[in-house]
Amino acid sequence: MAVLEILKYPHPILKKRSQAVSQIDEEVKKLIQDMKETMYGAGGVGLAACQVGVPRRVIVLDVSPMDPQHSFLVLINPEIISEEGEIDHEEGCLSVPDCLEKVKRREKVCVKGLSPKGMEIEVKADGILAIAVQHEIDHINGVLILDRVSRLKREIYRNKLKKEKRKEEKP
Ligand SMILES: [Zn+2]
Repeated sequence: MAVLEILKYPHPILKKRSQAVSQIDEEVKKLIQDMKETMYGAGGVGLAACQVGVPRRVIVLDVSPMDPQHSFLVLINPEIISEEGEIDHEEGCLSVPDCLEKVKRREKVCVKGLSPKGMEIEVKADGILAIAVQHEIDHINGVLILDRVSRLKREIYRNKLKKEKRKEEKP
């Protein structure tokens, strides 16, 4: 297992739609292990493969620090098959550092996908798990929290990044 580098906004891979996994081979299994270690290493509750530079439809989640009834979960080719309700939730993202934004989400979602063993699974999620699943599925569709906030907020964040970059460039 290895801790991988987490790509940060505005890396172009984060804007791309990830490709479906057609075969769960050794490479995909290793990717899942590395993603698990990377997510825990960064203290995140979810991670999508594109965040570590691999544009495939794989997500890992573990929201147990916020809701102990859940545990580690892997979903390959996840797809939301039903959704219900609406909720505003303040979210952060490992790829968008120092940014916490209120994002509109569905309150409950039902997601289907494949387990690492290739079994079809269906997850009925509410609360923080529902939000995390939608956040990670956004990632594999090339969508970031910055795409879900107002243009003004996006510009404020971009300007903050520019300022920080200028500071770093000064000797
Ligand atoms: Zn994220």
